[in-house]
Amino acid sequence: MTDGPKYGFDTLQIHAGARPDPATGSRQTPIYQSTAYVFRDAEHAAALFNLQEVGYIYSRLTNPTVAVLQERIATLEGGVGGVCCSSGHAAQIMALFPLMAPGLNVVVSTRLYGGTVTQFSQTIKRFGWEATFVDFDDLDAVKAAIDDNTRAIFCESIANPGGYITDLDAIAAIADSAEIPLIVDNTTATPYLCRPIEHGATLVVHSTTKYLTGNGTVTGGCVVDSGTFDWSANDKFPSLSGPEPAYHGMKFHETFGPLAFTFHGIAIGLRDLGMTMNPQAAHYTLMGTETLSLRMDRHVENATRIAKWLEADDRVEYVTYAGLESSPYFDRVAKICPRGAGGLFTFAVKGGYDACVKLVNALEIFSHVANLGDARSLIIHSASTTHRQLTVEQQRAAGAAPEVVRVSIGIEDAEDLIADLDQALSKAAN
Ligand SMILES: *Cc1c(COP(=O)(O)O)cnc(C)c1O
Repeated sequence: MTDGPKYGFDTLQIHAGARPDPATGSRQTPIYQSTAYVFRDAEHAAALFNLQEVGYIYSRLTNPTVAVLQERIATLEGGVGGVCCSSGHAAQIMALFPLMAPGLNVVVSTRLYGGTVTQFSQTIKRFGWEATFVDFDDLDAVKAAIDDNTRAIFCESIANPGGYITDLDAIAAIADSAEIPLIVDNTTATPYLCRPIEHGATLVVHSTTKYLTGNGTVTGGCVVDSGTFDWSANDKFPSLSGPEPAYHGMKFHETFGPLAFTFHGIAIGLRDLGMTMNPQAAHYTLMGTETLSLRMDRHVENATRIAKWLEADDRVEYVTYAGLESSPYFDRVAKICPRGAGGLFTFAVKGGYDACVKLVNALEIFSHVANLGDARSLIIHSASTTHRQLTVEQQRAAGAAPEVVRVSIGIEDAEDLIADLDQALSKAAN
């Protein structure tokens, strides 16, 4: 089939990017477990290496199984191209890499996945990059944080650990007037619940490890480009607008137009940074995407029911799920993610840190793991695990206070999950 807007999401999540294998007719996308691809002749090889012809050379750069997943995720997000990577964190570096240089900075939300806070506040400094953390509900503060050296704005659509939704349209308008791209991590929402490009995002990044794969089997990431940003409007983005010495002075934006960022991601990013997704991982994630909408509907339905049940329970202090009417972000659900506020949220247990630890130990169906977006229900006490590296102030800013646990609600029977929480909360209270 030809992919395009005439098909609905449920059709595209199964078919986008895939076609019957030209060699065998195989209906399912084969796992092309090959490192290299035979050139037709020496001219063909030269054309591929000069980026004059698109094709397969070596699987650090491109692989036919991975290519199907790239096209599928890009289509679901409404972008023009995608680059898959070895993990979500790899995708974040790959998204920033063409934009940044020593001395430049990115303005980022305080409400981020704990690992991203560490990556941005510590590790990127080794590249000479800086991140400025701002409360993204304070639009004046976001504007004020942007200076001449800012090259991107970064936030999450539904922010980990849940309960917070970014006003993407407002942030995109700020990025627009500053002539810098907005990068949105759409991992926890998935393109089924939220389509950041429709709200003005330039780039969308994913940890495909989570809902896109959907069963906790493989790590992966993806960067999707909207194709809408004018990299040549000024001299801020020389990697994309200027001559590239490694390709005889070729200019990516001039040569590839809306696909400049995608081609740069493969021809420079994967070639030289090597954060490549392997074809086995792409296969698992392709399987996952086929049922994405069905699973997300169920995640949302279960999360809403369980959040309401917890909110009405005396043993619980409060629940932060944007799908609850009590949430300050309830109105943003209709605007940003109309199909629901996702499957992640936090709740505060009466009795604080110690009660949280007891609760986590007493649960039987919920698994205590540092992951999210699995078909099975997961719980984590962020303050003692994923957000452990952060100060208490950073933990609170990230929605991971010591008295709070985060749940990733799975697609099991909601009654069973409620019964499990019920018995564990009783044990936590003692
Ligand atoms: C898991 C996660 C990441 C990091 O992805 P990995 O695949 O673990 O590298 C980034 N952002 C969010 C929102 C995540 O949930």
